[in-house]
Amino acid sequence: MNFYSLNKNAPNVSFAEAVVKGLAPDRGLYFPESISPLPTSFFENIEKMDNIDIAYQAIQQFVGDEIPEADLRDILTDVLSFDFPVVPVSENIGTLELFHGPTMAFKDVGARFMARCLEYFNRNNDGHVTVLVATSGDTGGAVARGFLGVKGVDVVILYPNGKVSDIQERQLTTLGKNIKALRVDGVFDDCQEMVKTAFLDESITANRTLTSANSINVARWLPQLFYFLFAYKQTKKLEKEIVFSVPSGNFGNICAGIVANKLGMPVKQFIASVNVNDTVVEYLKTGTYTPKPSKATISNAMDVGNPSNFIRIQQLFENNFEDLKKLFSSVSFNDDQTRKAMKEIKAENGYIADPHGAVGYLGLKDYKLSDNEYGIFLETAHPVKFANIVEDTLQTKVAIPKQIQSVLDKEKTFTAITKYDELKSYLLNDDDYKN
Ligand SMILES: *Cc1c(COP(=O)(O)O)cnc(C)c1O
Repeated sequence: MNFYSLNKNAPNVSFAEAVVKGLAPDRGLYFPESISPLPTSFFENIEKMDNIDIAYQAIQQFVGDEIPEADLRDILTDVLSFDFPVVPVSENIGTLELFHGPTMAFKDVGARFMARCLEYFNRNNDGHVTVLVATSGDTGGAVARGFLGVKGVDVVILYPNGKVSDIQERQLTTLGKNIKALRVDGVFDDCQEMVKTAFLDESITANRTLTSANSINVARWLPQLFYFLFAYKQTKKLEKEIVFSVPSGNFGNICAGIVANKLGMPVKQFIASVNVNDTVVEYLKTGTYTPKPSKATISNAMDVGNPSNFIRIQQLFENNFEDLKKLFSSVSFNDDQTRKAMKEIKAENGYIADPHGAVGYLGLKDYKLSDNEYGIFLETAHPVKFANIVEDTLQTKVAIPKQIQSVLDKEKTFTAITKYDELKSYLLNDDDYKN
């Protein structure tokens, strides 16, 4: 399968090249040249299929023959080694828990898949790829864990000093090996800006192959479509139309869900539930897309003012605004509403949701499900990752799972930087990537 740049000013590339490059040279996002529906027998038999088989059938056309079947199945077996249960929350609402992976956020699957693909493409050469990534919290941990010990890949993670939680900081600074953490004196936008500058800096790119592990990378974005198929597999027996509510920030996850629908999976409605960062909500109202600076909220993994994957969603509807609005809606909630929803979910159903999941729940409440519809909101992080907010809002203690416990007593190792020149000299003088 070939991928083209959505800026339409760069050569088409193979899957492997799209993964290694991350972003096209014209700064556009890569997009598959075609999406062919799966045979109807796939959806008829999905309840009998195992997750690896479902994932293989769904991703195969995008990978093409660049990874042979046996290797691709091995990669998927490794990546999907945990559960993705739909847990009933009320009579017509369930939550798809995506936090059973090693860093307890849904980004684990994308990060692990991308890591295994890069490892595969590097298997026969001594070249090195440097994954350079800015994080506001969850991405860094998932990427660090996903790439730990992967041959031929170094990871450099930039995170804002004092702006990530203690658990999140430990998840990126305690692993060692090929994972390097740079603590930036500034906010997330400063980290992001430094990363962007480095990608455009020829004195760096002439010496070091850089790639991004953001959801702009096709190997991080596309495997997220598995979640929706796994949810369908578990809820098909209810014989109801499914409404998905996806807590959204960069809109990568929900965009992958729409790809699952293009593959033939029946879905009644996709709701992009957002916090007060409502650029897409406004767009759907007015038809004008106006990016805004991001605002800080308690669902901070969704504090995005200019969602990078929205352009892919528009492409999935061939840029037809009316078609898009038939299947896709977006709704915004503030922190007070989010806290109230967390209390309501716990009081009425005994379920503890994190702030992101609670925003997803609110999206379903706002939609008003009919009797023949079943609503699924995605629980994108374990409550322990936002323990302060959850414990403060619900007046309850969140037990620390073993995945998190294992990083708590390790020592943090990082290099502190304040400006771009320090990142540059770090990348140019770091000898580790050469051997
Ligand atoms: C990244 C993240 C999101 C947003 O996902 P997008 O694909 O960027 O829309 C939501 N919740 C949590 C917990 C996240 O880490």
